[in-house]
Amino acid sequence: METCEVLIVGGGPAGSSCGWKLARHGVDCRLLDAQSFPRTKLCAGWITPEVVRDLEIDIDAYPHRFLTFDGLYIGLLGLQFRLDGVQHSIRRYEFDDWLLSRSGVAVETHNVRDIRKDGSWYVIDDRYRARYLVGAGGTKCPVYRNLFRAANPRAKELQTVTLEQEFPYEYRDGACHLWFFERGFPGYSWYVPKAKGYLNVGIGGMASRLKFRGEDIWSHWEHLVQRLKRQGMLHDGGLEPRGYSYYLRSDVRVGRVDNAFIVGDSAGLATRDLCEGIGPAVRSGLMAADAILTGADYVLDTLPRFTSDNGLVRRGLEFMFIERERKRLARLDPAAVP
Ligand SMILES: Cc1cc2nc3c(=O)[nH]c(=O)nc-3n(C[C@H](O)[C@H](O)[C@H](O)COP(=O)(O)OP(=O)(O)OC[C@H]3O[C@@H](n4cnc5c(N)ncnc54)[C@H](O)[C@@H]3O)c2cc1C
Repeated sequence: METCEVLIVGGGPAGSSCGWKLARHGVDCRLLDAQSFPRTKLCAGWITPEVVRDLEIDIDAYPHRFLTFDGLYIGLLGLQFRLDGVQHSIRRYEFDDWLLSRSGVAVETHNVRDIRKDGSWYVIDDRYRARYLVGAGGTKCPVYRNLFRAANPRAKELQTVTLEQEFPYEYRDGACHLWFFERGFPGYSWYVPKAKGYLNVGIGGMASRLKFRGEDIWSHWEHLVQRLKRQGMLHDGGLEPRGYSYYLRSDVRVGRVDNAFIVGDSAGLATRDLCEGIGPAVRSGLMAADAILTGADYVLDTLPRFTSDNGLVRRGLEFMFIERERKRLARLDPAAVP
């Protein structure tokens, strides 16, 4: 049996941030990921200045693509406007690999299946054992599934569905664009340039609302592609997007059970207005490390639920993304929606 103090399942931003902090304090930890890095992670790759600060990233020394925007272009109800404020884009393929190798944690490619408790040890697949276990495996995290699902069931109205593609592209428009609620879509689509000729385009919205409308996401994807072509932002179609799903933030009642933690998408922490998941993943990973190092409480309620500082934006997006669907589901079955 391979033994360590802390075992982290998942090497995305949540797991690598946790490992980075623990390794800096000399803790014996190991990280398992089902995929070998660098790996593809479907994501627009937009990050906030808070992520850069939390991870103490020196932008000038970052070895891959890093693009800074001084504002975002928003399309809403046929209107276009600009929101000022610094934001960045990275490629997850590069960023996650860089974070993981920077963390200094021992990484192994291993698909975790079985988790059981043996006294004070967590035993993984009868091969690894650890005193602490951190579930950073994203939406399909086995630590969530085995130890946390009963306490934190995921709410239907918080599930997102997405399609995206990232590809080399000599874009002419180097600004970041978001279009909200086009043709009634319960979400938004994006055009996010990356440094040195890469582009990410995609669409993400709320699965339950989309189903209620009797639509699937592909028709909205097609609408996005047509828009981009019409506006001269994309030359030809021929894209083959892929999809992934994750959950927006609810009251995460239990983030820790004994010495096991859930962090990032495993806990469903993406913000309720802009569906931002990288920032909360990093913060929760650092918080879990802190709890292991110092015995500090691990209370996920202290993490921000929104990205925007603007109360009107927050309430409007939260209503459109979550609240109206929550109310509809509650009318159908009051017992199913707390
Ligand atoms: C299309 C799309 C666009 C998005 N755009 C943005 C954006 O622009 N900005 C933003 O902030 N957020 C965005 N998000 C959300 C963001 O990608 C996630 O919230 C973030 O990646 C969560 O990080 P994580 O470390 O918790 O999980 P992940 O990044 O998903 O990492 C989990 C890791 O766990 C591993 N794993 C899973 N199961 C196992 C297992 N059984 N055994 C071992 N390892 C396992 C996986 O291989 C993976 O590497 C987007 C999401 C999607 C789907």
